[in-house]
Amino acid sequence: MRTTEERSLEERLALVRKVLALERRKGHADTAATGGLERFLEQHLPEGAHAAHGYGKRSSEERQGIIEDLEALLERLEAGEAAGDVATLAEPVERAVGVGTRRGKQLRRLGIETVEDLLLFFPRRLEDRSRQVSIAQLADGVTATVEGVVQAKSRIRVRRGLELVKVAVADAGGILFVIWFNQPWMWEELKQGQRYAFFGKAQVRYGELQMENPVWEQAGTGFHTGRWVPIYPATEGLSQVVLRGLIRRNLGPLGHALGEVVPEHVRRRLRLVPRRQAVERIHFPEGPQDFQAARRALAFEELFLLQVGLAMREEAPGGPARKLEVDQASVKAFAEALPFSLTGAQLRALDEVQHDLQSDRPMWRLLQGDVGSGKTAVAAGAAVAVHSAGAQTAVMAPTEILAQQHSLVLGALLGKVGLRVELLVGGMPVKERKRVLEELAAGEVPVVVGTHALLQEDVSFGELGLAVVDEQHRFGVVQRAQLESKGRGANVLVMSATPIPRTVVLTVYGRFAISVLDEMPRERSEVKTMWVSESRRQEVYGKVGKLLQSEGRGYVVFPLVEESEEVDLRDATRAHEELSRRFSDAGAALVHGRMSAEEKRAAMEAFRSGEARLLVATSVVEVGLDVPDASFLVIEHADRFGLAQLHQLRGRIGRAGQSAVCFAIADPATEDGQRRLTAFRDLSDGFDIAEEDLRIRGPGDVLGTAQHGFASRLRMADLVRDLPLLEQARKEAEELAEQGLPPELTAEVERRFGDTLELLGV
Ligand code: ADP
Ligand code: MG
Repeated sequence: MRTTEERSLEERLALVRKVLALERRKGHADTAATGGLERFLEQHLPEGAHAAHGYGKRSSEERQGIIEDLEALLERLEAGEAAGDVATLAEPVERAVGVGTRRGKQLRRLGIETVEDLLLFFPRRLEDRSRQVSIAQLADGVTATVEGVVQAKSRIRVRRGLELVKVAVADAGGILFVIWFNQPWMWEELKQGQRYAFFGKAQVRYGELQMENPVWEQAGTGFHTGRWVPIYPATEGLSQVVLRGLIRRNLGPLGHALGEVVPEHVRRRLRLVPRRQAVERIHFPEGPQDFQAARRALAFEELFLLQVGLAMREEAPGGPARKLEVDQASVKAFAEALPFSLTGAQLRALDEVQHDLQSDRPMWRLLQGDVGSGKTAVAAGAAVAVHSAGAQTAVMAPTEILAQQHSLVLGALLGKVGLRVELLVGGMPVKERKRVLEELAAGEVPVVVGTHALLQEDVSFGELGLAVVDEQHRFGVVQRAQLESKGRGANVLVMSATPIPRTVVLTVYGRFAISVLDEMPRERSEVKTMWVSESRRQEVYGKVGKLLQSEGRGYVVFPLVEESEEVDLRDATRAHEELSRRFSDAGAALVHGRMSAEEKRAAMEAFRSGEARLLVATSVVEVGLDVPDASFLVIEHADRFGLAQLHQLRGRIGRAGQSAVCFAIADPATEDGQRRLTAFRDLSDGFDIAEEDLRIRGPGDVLGTAQHGFASRLRMADLVRDLPLLEQARKEAEELAEQGLPPELTAEVERRFGDTLELLGV
């Protein structure tokens, strides 16, 4: 036989092609070349030998993949391309060892586009296959790895559509029957007289020791069995075995290209294993501790990059704020004019706000507090401070109804110190609107309340000093650009009635300072919450009747996902008609998103004044309605509300400390729905609710659709579980940012999170 050098590349390629075709025809039995395919390739196509490494020991599925990859390699060689070697990890995954077109397609379905993606495709968990026993030590229910020699094989057709391959395996002390259902190829795979390792759960059936569908490999391999084995998330047609194999074959030659990301001193301080080692250990750990250490390093890396990203945004030019010269005395006068004295928490928050307003950096502050904690009064105080410095405040609510509500409440609070509050919403008379716009532009309106449109529309301000955003967990992010267009360096105060999980604060609100109202102005009784099945609706309304008879006031709320949903509207309207008839003395009012601003206002006023004691509403009342006397709430189709929304709704009743009751009517069809309602019934603390919400929905959802893209970029970090790491990452990133961020780090952030970073931070 001539050696490699003597043949031209063309000749060699033709020969290899023939052998590969033969191998394929013979069912991947490694019989096409004497001495096996691997040896053949070493001789005739060294460029491809590594791809066929261990061919003789692979499963037929793996062999099939290898043949395909070799054929792909041949094509590339024929086209004059360099052989499968990968110059950078950014190359398409098809360039990876063992990946051809078919595999490439499967991998891409998993989001693996590049060679790097493949190496960084992390397992979710480990399975303990390390326990090795002899067959005699197996007993019914024992899960372990055993080794043995194939003694006999049989193929049994149990009935149409059910065929099994049964293999008798023996070691020195016993016999085990290994069984596969409907996998006829297993007959070929296991050779009589050969030794294999099996991992699975033993069972005793008909007096026989059996193992069904075990994981198996050649004895002595110790790769898929006999150790702690990583388990990858959904693999879309690729088996765990194939994926594990692919990663191993590529990590070996390419692992060196995985550079360090986290700065050395940070890694030292937190005792994080080096990156390359972490990637190796996560795929091929020696045990759970090893795996955890690797996981921690990799999760930290992501969270750290994320926090660096937030720090980068903060550094971005936004212009300094105009320092507001706040007149303390007028804020004090405001506090004294209030019908109540501010709580310690409110005073603290107000102080913090004033401090920010007077600094030369724009304020980004999140005012967080459970429903009823008195955020509005703090916002009013902030508006007084801003006004005393000669600037204006814009207050934005998520809906027009809430804008109206806010303008009423703020008007009452601020009227006492002579501050005018104007409302600017869509449904206003043209003349009135024109007047408000003019006065705003002239700087004559100290406080304007409207929807988000205040920032988007052609509204100009004489001197915008503060934007108050009633975030209520559903508002989109405030675009800095929009704000800047209204007033340079304007300050932002976001009010959130939903306690925001710390995780979210550290990501979406990463740049915010936080004031927490952790003190309730009034003793609030705990609302009694009942989760009631649809079939008991009549009982609920019976109770509502009794409550109305004893002069109670309350709400019946229907979900309304989008304001255009006809069905929901019909439900609410019909319920209103029925309830009006049934409880004619109570004077039921109706409010929904399709009504004109005037109609809404009239309905709300009727309820506020007590003229109507029942308010039927679509979820627009969810936020902000402040009728302290309301003491009951019926939530229809409660399973269609989010947990945070449900909690918001419940916050509308019992506000004056009276006893209050909430009925959530629902027969949730999903497990999540059941979990939500259980949590709603059993939890009353806003923070507990928020944490549970995060657990049920997962971070992507909680962060909002805009942020979803970002959360899905995290390969390893879990925003719920890794909170302590997130906090550490935040601290380290901030420290580093103060000294100046190294360019290679910011480049890495851009590379990984680039487009999604825009979505982070308000
Ligand atoms: P939030 O917006 O935080 O849910 P609000 O600002 O609507 O709460 O306040 C809830 C209720 O408590 C309102 O009726 C408000 O007038 C009242 N309130 C606010 N602060 C105090 C206080 N310090 N003492 C007594 N009542 C207060
Ligand atoms: Mg409020």
